[in-house]
Amino acid sequence: MPVSTSTLNAVKNGDGMAAAGATNSNGPSFSKSARMAAVSAVTNWKPISPSLNFAEIPAQELYACNVFGPAVMKQRLPKPVYKSLMKTIESGSKLDPSIADVVASAMRDWAIGKGATHYAHVFYPLTGITAEKHDSFLSPDGDGGAIAEFSGKQLIQGEPDGSSFPTGGIRATFEARGYTIWDVTSPAYILENPNGTTLCVPTAFVSWTGEALDKKTPVLRSMQALNTQAQRVLNLFGESDGAFVASTAGPEQEYFLIDRHFYFARPDLFTAGRTLFGAKPPKGQEFEDHYFGAIPERVLAFMLESERDMYKLGIPVKTRHNEVAPAQYEIAPVFESANLAADHQQLVMIILRRVAEKYGMACLTHEKPFAGVNGSGKHVNWSLGSKSQGNLLDPGETPHSNAQFLVFCAAVVRAVYKHQGLLRAVVATAGNDHRLGANEAPPAIISIFLGDQLTDVFRQVKDGGAKSSLSQGTLTVGVDVLPPLPKDAGDRNRTSPFAFTGNRFEFRAVGANQSIAGPLVAMNTIVCESLDYCATKLEKATAVKPGGLHEAVQKLLTEIINECEPIIFNGDGYSAAWHQEAAKRGLLNLKTSPDALGQLGSPEVKRLFTKYEVLSERELQSRLDIYLEQYCKTVRVEALQTVEMAKTLIFPAAIRYQNELASTCANLKLIGFDFDTDTLEKITELVKCLQDSIAVLEKAMLHHEGDGLESEARYFCDDVVPAMAEVRKYADALEGWVADDLWPLPTYQEMLFIK
Ligand code: ADP
Ligand code: MG
Repeated sequence: MPVSTSTLNAVKNGDGMAAAGATNSNGPSFSKSARMAAVSAVTNWKPISPSLNFAEIPAQELYACNVFGPAVMKQRLPKPVYKSLMKTIESGSKLDPSIADVVASAMRDWAIGKGATHYAHVFYPLTGITAEKHDSFLSPDGDGGAIAEFSGKQLIQGEPDGSSFPTGGIRATFEARGYTIWDVTSPAYILENPNGTTLCVPTAFVSWTGEALDKKTPVLRSMQALNTQAQRVLNLFGESDGAFVASTAGPEQEYFLIDRHFYFARPDLFTAGRTLFGAKPPKGQEFEDHYFGAIPERVLAFMLESERDMYKLGIPVKTRHNEVAPAQYEIAPVFESANLAADHQQLVMIILRRVAEKYGMACLTHEKPFAGVNGSGKHVNWSLGSKSQGNLLDPGETPHSNAQFLVFCAAVVRAVYKHQGLLRAVVATAGNDHRLGANEAPPAIISIFLGDQLTDVFRQVKDGGAKSSLSQGTLTVGVDVLPPLPKDAGDRNRTSPFAFTGNRFEFRAVGANQSIAGPLVAMNTIVCESLDYCATKLEKATAVKPGGLHEAVQKLLTEIINECEPIIFNGDGYSAAWHQEAAKRGLLNLKTSPDALGQLGSPEVKRLFTKYEVLSERELQSRLDIYLEQYCKTVRVEALQTVEMAKTLIFPAAIRYQNELASTCANLKLIGFDFDTDTLEKITELVKCLQDSIAVLEKAMLHHEGDGLESEARYFCDDVVPAMAEVRKYADALEGWVADDLWPLPTYQEMLFIK
C-alpha cells in the first residue's frame, strides 16, 4: 500500500494528529491518512506523562477534595450557619437568606485557596446541556487596585444573558432576563483547568416571572411533591419521624470511544454525533468477544484519569466495563439523591468527553453512533428512601415492612401503567428513536418486568391474599404476615424498558445522550400521584375502621393489580409476539418522537404536573415546543449533512471508480481483450440510484412550509428520515463495490476495531 512520506513520518514520529487529512500521491487519501494516523496513535501510544499515581495521593484522599461539601462547611462555617444550611440540605426546609454572606465568603476563601480566580453559576437549560457563566472574583477597589469579592447576593442569584436558550415562548428574547438561583442541595465545586480553576455553583434557571427555564427546577419540585405523599403513606404505617424521603438515582452511562483521527475524518460524527453512512463490517458484535473483555491499555488509562477527575468532584463512580458492541463501554456511579445524581451525571458526560480528547480519542454519547451494532442507553436506576427508613423499595425482613414495601411497589406499578405515555415522551429524542422501537432493546412499548417472585406475590394478592412466596412454597401466610422476599429476586430481564431489580426500578429506555432530569421528574411525579392515591384510600379506610390497615392494604393491592396488570410483562420484549400481545392489552406503542412527544400535551399529563405544582401548563407547553423543535433541528442537520456527504464525498469516489473501470474496459477492448462489465454496470446503477435518492431528499427538505411544530416534526419523521435512509442505502452499497483506496470515509471496521 503506497503511503506518502509525510504520513510515514507522522507515523514514525507518533505525531498522529498531523497526519489526519494529509494527502498522498495516491489521490484522495483522507481515509488512508486518518487510518494510518489512528494506527500510529494506537501502536505508538505511550502513557501520558506525568502518569497518574494513585499511590502518591490515594483515591480516598482525592475523593471530593474539590467539593464544598458538608465536611468543608463544618470546618469553615460558624456552627449555627452550618446547622441551618445542613437543615435545608437534608430536610428540604427553606433557606435562610441571612446566612448567604457568611457562606459566600467562606466559599470564596476556600476556592481562592484552591487557585480559583472566577466563579460560575452552572445551570441546565432545556437543550439538555450544561451552561456556565463565569465572573471574576476581582472588583476594582477604587484606588487603582482590586479586591476579591463574592457576596451572598452573588452566591444566591445571578443574571446570565441567557437570551439564546430556548424557552418555548415563556420568555421572548426582548425580555431576556433569566435568573440563576443557588441550589443549596447540590454542593459547589472547583473545576480544574491546566491554567486555573473556577468555583462552580449549581443553580436553577428561572424567568423573571419565576417560571422554570431549566431541567433542575422541576427535579427539585418533583422531589418535594414526592416527599409529601410518601410521608402520608409512612404515617399510616406508623413511621412518622418526618425524615425527608428523597428519590434516588444511579445512572449507568454507555458510550463509545473511537480514535480522534477517525472522528475528524467523519463529518457526520462531528456534526450529528452519529454515522449517517457506513456499511456493516464483516465482523460486528456477533462473537460478543468485547463484552466484559479485557480493557485496552489506552482506554483503561483514559478511564483511570476520568475517574480520578470524577472522584475529585465527589462523583461516586464505581463500575466500569466493556459493553456489548465493539468500542463500547459503560461507567456507573453509586446512586445518590436524584438532584445530585442529575448534576453529577452532566459532569460525567463532560469529563468523559474532555479526557477522551486528551488520550487522542472521541467519546460518543449518541444513542446510535453506528447502525447495526448496539446503541447506547443510560439506564436510570430509581428508588426512594430516607435516612431513617432506608430504601423504601427494599423488601423488608418483617411482614409489616413487607406490607409497606408492597404498597410502594404497587404505587410504582400503577404509576407506570397510568402514565406510560409520559414515560415514553420523556425519552423521546431524534437520537433515541434509533434505539426504541427499532429492532433493538428496549421496545417503545412501556411495560414493567417484576421478576417471577414479585409477580407471584402480586398474583396471590390479586387472588385474595398472598400466601407464600415462590422460594418458600410451604409458608402459609395472610396479608398481615406477607412473606419475606429475598433481596435478589429472580432472574434479570434485559429486554424490559422498566424493570424491578431487587430493590429499585431500572428505567432502561433513557437515551445515552440525554439529561436524566426529565425521566427523573416524570418518575418522581407519577409515583407521587400514585402514593397520593394510595394514601387517600388507606386513610379513608382506616378512619372508618381503626386498626384495619392491613385489611385495607390487601384491598388496595388487589384493586391496583386488577387494574394495572396489563403493564406487567416478564417475557421477551424484543419479540414480534409482544407487539401483538401489547396491542391486545391496550398498551401504547409510540414508535417515534413525534408520536411520543404529543403525550406531553395530554389532559392527564397536564393535570398531573399542575396538581403537584411540578410544572405549570405554560411550562409544560414550553417543553413540548422545545423538544419538538429540537427534534426537527436534529433531523434537519442530519439531512443536510447527508446530502453534503453524498454529493461531495461518496458520489465523487463512486464516479472515479466508475471512470477507472470504464477506461480499463475501453483500453482492453482496444487491444482486443474482453472485459467483464458486471462491476461497471453495478456501479453505474448504484450511482444513478444515489443521485436520484439525493434529489428526493433535497426536494423533501424544500417542501415543507410550517404549519405548527407538531406537523413539522411529523413531516421530518415521515418524509425526511426515510429519504435519508434511502440515500444511505445506496451509499452503503457503493462502499461494498468501490475500490478501497478511493473510499473517502473511515469504515466501520476501522473505527470500531482500531483502538
Ligand atoms: P447492572 O449493570 O447490573 O444494572 P450496575 O451495578 O451497573 O448494575 O448499576 C446499578 C446501579 O443501580 C448503580 O448505579 C447503583 O448505585 C444503582 N442503585 C442501587 N441501589 C439503588 C437505589 N436504591 N436507588 C437508585 N439506584 C440504585
Ligand atoms: Mg443496569
